[in-house]
Amino acid sequence: MLLFRQLFDPVSATCTYLLADGGEAVLIDPVFEQAQRDSLLLQELGLTLVATLDTHVHADHVTAAWLLKQRHGSRILLSARAPAAGADGGLAHGDTVAFGGRHLQVRATPGHTDGCLTYVLDDASMAFTGDALLIRGCGRTDFQQGSARSLFRSVTEQIFSLPDSCLLYPGHDYRGLTASSVGEEKRHNPRLGGHVDLNDFEGHMQHLALPHPKLIDVAVPANLRCGQPADGAVLPAAPDWAPLAWTFGGIWEIQPQALQDSLDDAAAIQVVDVRESAEFQDALGHIRGARLLPLSQLAQRMAEIDRSRPVVVVCRSGVRSAQAAVLLGKAGVPRVANLAGGMLRWRAQALPADGGSA
Ligand code: FE
Repeated sequence: MLLFRQLFDPVSATCTYLLADGGEAVLIDPVFEQAQRDSLLLQELGLTLVATLDTHVHADHVTAAWLLKQRHGSRILLSARAPAAGADGGLAHGDTVAFGGRHLQVRATPGHTDGCLTYVLDDASMAFTGDALLIRGCGRTDFQQGSARSLFRSVTEQIFSLPDSCLLYPGHDYRGLTASSVGEEKRHNPRLGGHVDLNDFEGHMQHLALPHPKLIDVAVPANLRCGQPADGAVLPAAPDWAPLAWTFGGIWEIQPQALQDSLDDAAAIQVVDVRESAEFQDALGHIRGARLLPLSQLAQRMAEIDRSRPVVVVCRSGVRSAQAAVLLGKAGVPRVANLAGGMLRWRAQALPADGGSA
């Protein structure tokens, strides 16, 4: 029986899809920072990950293809037209990717990038369109060899030729929509549906004036290595002192609830708050038992850190503390993790804090 799950990364608004049959699974467009979640889900469901499939070389997030391969031995598949180092197979139009007794068929749908692929389930009941076709929208065509002309052809010839009932699952959604169908997009897609012709579409796409993607300078080079952090990088062994996730920036991260649970279990963790002292007392307050050690003084006061105990660093949003985690790691502190989302996320999840306002 087919197992299907739609997963979501809120930071990049990326949809990841898990498909499985007969104990074998594939993941479409997995996100680096969510690899831990995906691994745990595979484990709980008793699935073997046979392959990860990227729909294209993404500019807005780093793929978890390499990371998942280190953990699960999965094959890394994406378009043969994407010159990604470390891929196990270059896919071309008409290829199939099998899992259990089912398979996905590969359709070339260039236009957003020239290596964009759409994966269609064997019975044409579902298609995974990446950024070629989004729900009531489409991917941009103004960088990474994009072409409005070829995107128009891809959508009208390769996606709209599927049965109207075929459910469409996009690479992103920014408004909380999760799925559409061929019939629905043919009727209601404002860029590509209805009576839109190539000239309408090209004109529309030329005048979008979109900002430069924030992560493109990090994400594209990383995705051209299938998400390997640096040439020759290896996956560090997972620490056992708390449930941590490894970030693409090369630090370990802990989620607020997991930190709260770990504090209850084992008092050994030292929470080090690296904000300035005024912030320690401001509206957000601070985590009970946290030690104030501002980032500006960390290098000079490194000796105050007890190296025999794990350290979790905290700041307002998780950005300064990420820097602190790198500094502590470089200074040889063996067990360090960053609190993901900082005090903002801690308070948003209504976890206990000292000081601050309700
Ligand atoms: Fe994209």
